Amino acid sequence: MACRCFLWSESAGVTKRALVAWERLCLPKVQTPNQASWMVRKIIGASKFIMNIGPANLSVFYLAYFSTRKTYNLLRGNFEKVPWKKLICNNPCPPKCLFIGWLAVLRRLTTCDRLVKIGIQCDTLCCLCSKEQEDIEHLFFSCSWSSELWTKVLSWIGCIKQSESWSSEIDFVTAHATGNLAKHQIYRMVLFTSVYFVWRERNQRHFQGVTGDLNQVFREIQLVVYSTCFLYKKLRNVGQEL
Ligand SMILES: [Zn+2]
Repeated sequence: MACRCFLWSESAGVTKRALVAWERLCLPKVQTPNQASWMVRKIIGASKFIMNIGPANLSVFYLAYFSTRKTYNLLRGNFEKVPWKKLICNNPCPPKCLFIGWLAVLRRLTTCDRLVKIGIQCDTLCCLCSKEQEDIEHLFFSCSWSSELWTKVLSWIGCIKQSESWSSEIDFVTAHATGNLAKHQIYRMVLFTSVYFVWRERNQRHFQGVTGDLNQVFREIQLVVYSTCFLYKKLRNVGQEL
């Protein structure tokens, strides 16, 4: 109020009605231009963010030494660490496998049960085994087809373990394979790579009517794992022993 009165009447008291409302005076000169680059749009968007975080937190912008780290943490907010963090953040598998694996961990893959829930009518029978209803727990790796593939992959890397449902697989890998040892990284990599190839096989059968051979899919998983191991010095020796 004092600032507004000073600007318009050069005194601290209200002397007259302002010709233009202060709020209107402070509006940006232009809206974000349609042709603005994504970077300009991000900067303008960030300014709205900064105004929304509240005056108490704005002090970070007036420090003698501006800290991008503090500012970033402030804008991002604090969230609880998720138990599957290391499955995603320290997983050497190719990005396409990582992305599909991440969606599977979040249970956001568009399996038939989810499609039905959002009102899309489709055949909910699993196209890999044609015996049970398709959902994420069944697909990874309770289904007889994916279970056989996963057991074969586990046997290949020397892990003696039966395939289980998706929740149990996540619990197992979170409890036993989140370290930085090469064998842990290999396990995380083969898990996400297998998820990717099972999902690809499911989509090929659904949308293209093409049925892949299990042994061929297994060889493709091996090829991906071998080539990825070759990229990382730490994994190279382990990869050669597989
Ligand atoms: Zn099935």
